[in-house]
Amino acid sequence: MVAQRPIRKSAFTTYGKCQKKFEYLYNSPDYFNYGLDEAEQNDPLRRGNLFHNGCDKFFAELEGKIKTSNITSIFRTLLPTITDPRDSIVNTWFDWFAETEKERYIELDEANQMGCFIPIATELEIKLPDTIDRTGHVDRVDIIPGTKDLCITEYKTGKSYDMDNSYSFTDMNKEIGFYVQIMNTASIFPNNKITHWKVINPTLEKIWINKISPISLRSVEVLYKEITNKILSKDKFQRNIGVLCKSCPFVIECMDGYYQEDVKNEPFEI
Ligand code: SF4
Repeated sequence: MVAQRPIRKSAFTTYGKCQKKFEYLYNSPDYFNYGLDEAEQNDPLRRGNLFHNGCDKFFAELEGKIKTSNITSIFRTLLPTITDPRDSIVNTWFDWFAETEKERYIELDEANQMGCFIPIATELEIKLPDTIDRTGHVDRVDIIPGTKDLCITEYKTGKSYDMDNSYSFTDMNKEIGFYVQIMNTASIFPNNKITHWKVINPTLEKIWINKISPISLRSVEVLYKEITNKILSKDKFQRNIGVLCKSCPFVIECMDGYYQEDVKNEPFEI
């Protein structure tokens, strides 16, 4: 049997929005580099990547210096300064991030829990060998102060990542659930339990912390089985025509095919 491509987290969450888009993405020659080619990045994606890279560098710079006195006064200098005027907003995000990390530092220092300040992992690539392998990339993993429990932390810079919105919250539960299933089953942190997730959004200047939901872990498994069954049985992937089509990179091929195969005489609206 030909080995199937792994199911990446981005493909998994895409399936929940439109099965057909998942199929295009999964079979695309760019599947493994999707969104990574700098020349093809749009503004939000490029700025998001700048923010991720800066935050990662911040913690790398702090290694070994964390207990230096007045270290918080130089937090902002440990983050980059973006000179390209197109991306100047990212400097505002870094200003806010430095302030929130300073508050976190002070709280941990007062609680005598400074050992929890540096994440136990950043930019972590994860993989689970399975019927079809699952892969993902976790931005950061923190230890919850006073415990051995872990919190998966994600940086999200888009306005749509507002966890006060129930749709975004449900999507994030799925995304985090996908990671948790991989990390638990592959025993990536065998001595710790993953109990929480956190989203840091510098655009909205908000941080949310939530417990991992056992229901969302079960629904991740149901969805994963549905996707693998469809791939292996070469079943049909359904279109979900709606507002998301406007920004879908596969809209031309999708609508051509849809028009000819399925509706022939019925024009569609996006
Ligand atoms: S154009 Fe719309 S229906 Fe087609 S793959 Fe994209 S999101 Fe799905």
